[in-house]
Amino acid sequence: MSELRGPVDYHIHPGYSIDAQPVSIESYCRRAVDLKLIEICFTTHLEVDPARRNLDWFVRCGGQVRRMDDPRWLDLYFRDLHRARDSHAPHLAVKAGLEVGYEPGRERIIERLLDAYPFDFVLGSIHCLEHVAISSKRECAGYFSRRNAAAVAADYFTRLGQAVRTGLFDCIAHVDLYRRYGRAFLGPATDDLHRGHVEKIFRDMAQRGMGLEINTSGLRRGLGDLHPSPDIMKTAVQSGITIFTTGSDAHSLAETGQGIDVARRLLSGFSLSATTFTRRKPDGYTGVDKPAALP
Ligand SMILES: [Zn+2]
Ligand SMILES: [Zn+2]
Repeated sequence: MSELRGPVDYHIHPGYSIDAQPVSIESYCRRAVDLKLIEICFTTHLEVDPARRNLDWFVRCGGQVRRMDDPRWLDLYFRDLHRARDSHAPHLAVKAGLEVGYEPGRERIIERLLDAYPFDFVLGSIHCLEHVAISSKRECAGYFSRRNAAAVAADYFTRLGQAVRTGLFDCIAHVDLYRRYGRAFLGPATDDLHRGHVEKIFRDMAQRGMGLEINTSGLRRGLGDLHPSPDIMKTAVQSGITIFTTGSDAHSLAETGQGIDVARRLLSGFSLSATTFTRRKPDGYTGVDKPAALP
């Protein structure tokens, strides 16, 4: 895969995400140009858990908050993305992405939506367990306070393995998100929860050609390091994963591109660089998954 010419941010929440600042796609693009990013991918949220219908299923567009299950909001999202793409070419590449909060049993709904629009890149995320957002400071006690470390590990990694096996996602976002708030309940054991669980999942991801995200939000959200942790990153590389993306998980203009330099240094330490995607394929992908047999 060719070396990228500059930094890319592949995890940005524009104002369409109701938990983000109400900032337009165009404003993020201008900010990215100022920061000398060469490519960005917008990854607004898609949540599909019916139990959280009245909590999560909302999107901000056209100056209003709308229900997410009416997919016409995606027409506006793509209109904004195409305009931004045209106005910033060739200095900044603008990609169309989505961050899907995976929920088992909702595969057909997700698949239909992904097939209906020309996405470049789709992140799969585990945000909720037992219908509680472990990514939310306000909600997470409802999950973590009732379980020990072994139960959390079993729940989280079972769900992650399911998400990978659906084949619906190009890349897994913030693979150890449970560390952000879990540590306050589970203590230092949180940093070892992945052991014995994540190895098989990573081998599966490597075989499928799936990517793993280096998510920099941990640097600014109290964790002090990246997702994944150094040990999980090492395991990913040892398991054969070669596709990595870099994302700030920005929910505001100020967060755009934050920590991408740290993520790039981590990758270059493994002689790797960030991968970009076009229409759901890693750029530089030749269509040959396995080397041809020698004559
Ligand atoms: Zn997320
Ligand atoms: Zn996100």
